[in-house]
Amino acid sequence: MPTGAIDLHTHSSVSDGTETPAELVHAALAAGLGTVALTDHDSTAGWDEAEAATSGTGLLVVPGMELSTNHGPASVHMLAYLFDPTDDDIIRETARIRDGRLHRAERIVDRIAEDYPLTWHDVLEQSVDGGTIGRPHIADALVARGHVADRSAAFASILHWRSGYYEKYYAPSPLAGVELIVGAGGAPVLAHPGTRGREWVIDEKNIARLKDAGLFGLEIHHRDNTASGKARLFELAEKFDLAVTGSSDYHGTGKPNRLAENTTAPEVLELLLATATGHAPFSG
Ligand code: AMP
Ligand code: FE
Ligand code: FE
Ligand code: ZN
Repeated sequence: MPTGAIDLHTHSSVSDGTETPAELVHAALAAGLGTVALTDHDSTAGWDEAEAATSGTGLLVVPGMELSTNHGPASVHMLAYLFDPTDDDIIRETARIRDGRLHRAERIVDRIAEDYPLTWHDVLEQSVDGGTIGRPHIADALVARGHVADRSAAFASILHWRSGYYEKYYAPSPLAGVELIVGAGGAPVLAHPGTRGREWVIDEKNIARLKDAGLFGLEIHHRDNTASGKARLFELAEKFDLAVTGSSDYHGTGKPNRLAENTTAPEVLELLLATATGHAPFSG
């Protein structure tokens, strides 16, 4: 295992990051990381490019994904590490989520277009072919049109879930998500489970069920988790013997989050590598 900081949550242009997977690998090196996980939303399409870029760098790259799940009305993100990307159920379910995201984004754009000049073509220009479409790409299109200053401003206004333009998209339950990841040999970690207003979305009974199904850990060190959310999560990690991870959730220039602003302990990485059997990490 390389020395250097461990950052287990980043996005490339395969989803809503602004750097290609290869550029992301080089950004991780430049930031002095020893280990970085690539966790694009609902897609493994960046893995091959990341693997090729890792060669000769000395970096350890953990292939992963941030799986969308829905818990009632709430969207719950589930990080997935070192699973088999050729698993039939993974392929089928992530394709279904990406397709739902695409049509949902088209409907959001249709509604926005009633009030602001904006076309679906604008959004496609902000995304890569076959990538995972989300509100960040609509945000970039709104910025390009001059309707808002940046992504954050877009999310605070036109793309806010209470704006009237918003709608949800299909995703499996968190329990089905954990089963899917574990079934493909991977390790699931609840992403930023203590964000403002969401500290209690996954209650103790749900955590117990997810743990029974194979949940590996909780992403506690993350800028979006509140202080009280973190305190509660540490108690739950202790009670249910869950690993504690930390990460940046880097999106390139798409978010203020910087690589290695939060990190994971080496013992946790070792346990992760020993637990997940669906795919090997990429080591340069
Ligand atoms: P969606 O999954 O399409 O509903 O969009 C949610 C995504 O938008 C998340 O993955 C976040 O990374 C991103 N996001 C949420 N809030 C912001 C923000 N204020 N600035 C930039 N990106 C954001
Ligand atoms: Fe994102
Ligand atoms: Fe997330
Ligand atoms: Zn993320």
